[in-house]
Amino acid sequence: MPKFGYTDAFNHRLNDKIVVVDARDSLPTCKNGKQYKKREIHRIKGICIHHFGGDQSIESVAKHYTSPNNRFSHQAIESIPYTYCIDKNGLLHCCNDIEKVVWSQGTKLFDGDENADYLSIAIQGNFNKKTPNLDIMFSLLAFIKEAKYFFSFGNDGIKGHYNFGKEQCPGNHIESFLKYLQ
Ligand SMILES: [Zn+2]
Repeated sequence: MPKFGYTDAFNHRLNDKIVVVDARDSLPTCKNGKQYKKREIHRIKGICIHHFGGDQSIESVAKHYTSPNNRFSHQAIESIPYTYCIDKNGLLHCCNDIEKVVWSQGTKLFDGDENADYLSIAIQGNFNKKTPNLDIMFSLLAFIKEAKYFFSFGNDGIKGHYNFGKEQCPGNHIESFLKYLQ
């Protein structure tokens, strides 16, 4: 029996509201790839929302990063660099343990460690080109609401990647919505 950890507890909570797919053991990984650091979950100040920038599947994004010569490194990375992903049907996929500091939004533009401080969630699609559908928006809203409760943060903990210097992410159609929530 695996140990019941924070990730399972949060997924269980989310599962009461939306469908959560535990993809931690099914997505491509690279055991010998560059490893992420670990964090205490008390450190989490909020969440950061991303998009894929295209319609590629979660599997293909995971395959890209767990192969050599990906966007971040010449060397493969241990797993997809997002903790959660929402697919185009609004299903929420848990892709990594919450304790893993995945490389989603860190930048030298800001002080501190945005990767360790903010839990990342990425949405399949490009929302500079289209508006997210209702299934996606329902999952995103439910995720935000449950995350605020579980990790104890307020509306100022809701970030888009644009807050950390990546202007095009998660796209202006989601950005306008997030600005309303923030
Ligand atoms: Zn992003």
